[in-house]
Amino acid sequence: MKSMLAATLAPASSSRALKDPVCGMTVTTESPHKVDHASRPYWFCSAGCRTRFLTEPQRYVALTAAPAEPMLAAAGTTYTCPM
Ligand SMILES: [Zn+2]
Repeated sequence: MKSMLAATLAPASSSRALKDPVCGMTVTTESPHKVDHASRPYWFCSAGCRTRFLTEPQRYVALTAAPAEPMLAAAGTTYTCPM
């Protein structure tokens, strides 16, 4: 009984934290709501988000694949006011 509980309650080491591209919620690879799109796997928090993704995948893929240039610049360089 004890070992069974531990196995079901501690999946953190085997699952990765990911973002649901539709609603932005944190999901894991343990989620049953998964879609393979353009040879990449995507996970969702619910069947509703999965359906929304399948209706318009390019909309959500563009959001997650876009490079976060302003954030990278802010993290890699010391910000100084140009004025
Ligand atoms: Zn969601």
